[in-house]
Amino acid sequence: MRQIAFPLLVLVVFAGNALAEQEVHWTYSGKHGPEHWGELSEAFVACREGKSQSPIDIVDPIDTDLVPIALAYRGSTTAIVNNGHTLQINAGPDNSLDLDGQTFELLQFHLHSPSEHRIQGESFALEAHFVHKNDRGELAVVAVLFREGAPSDGIATIEASAPAKVGMSKALETLTASLEIMPENTAHYRYSGSLTTPPCTEGVTWLVVEAIGSVSKEQVEKFVAIIGEDARGPQPLNGRRVVH
Ligand SMILES: [Zn+2]
Repeated sequence: MRQIAFPLLVLVVFAGNALAEQEVHWTYSGKHGPEHWGELSEAFVACREGKSQSPIDIVDPIDTDLVPIALAYRGSTTAIVNNGHTLQINAGPDNSLDLDGQTFELLQFHLHSPSEHRIQGESFALEAHFVHKNDRGELAVVAVLFREGAPSDGIATIEASAPAKVGMSKALETLTASLEIMPENTAHYRYSGSLTTPPCTEGVTWLVVEAIGSVSKEQVEKFVAIIGEDARGPQPLNGRRVVH
């Protein structure tokens, strides 16, 4: 018995260390929740000390002449992943965003409930984040907020394919889910922020669509049943300006 137990223990400890180096465990509540993200790893220091963090409460944005978001989503998605923090839909090629004359490719989109961004203090039932990257590695995220009401066809497509277990992935080839989620009118608020999950990296351009989508109570409950609530609270503006 001892002869078997010893090598097993070594194996477990080794696997534990390897895991700790690759991925620090974080959550949305308790000891590993958002208030503690900055203490969980040196790599997460921006979560605690960053001055341009996301999400934010959008209050009194400055009126400018922002052009609508120029999206060209012509490709498909490839897979839907339950990564334990959210349901993430990975994008294939030929889905892009044109911003300030630069092309950003869609990497993935995912969901948060309740919403992370607030508008004039109002929180929403659900928020979708479309994460894009340009060839310099800079990120631009388009956020779409949903109020509780009629069901969303796009969310229905996502939930019909959602893997129930953490770490599971399923093939999902659909163009419609992303297009159905995105409102036609892409007038938006723009500001400079961060990833809303560890490592909370800054320098992210946020485009929060003003038009609010609709999602049913049942759809929100289904998402929360699979993932749990996954929203970081609003972060201080620290003098940043929000334009629209
Ligand atoms: Zn997100």
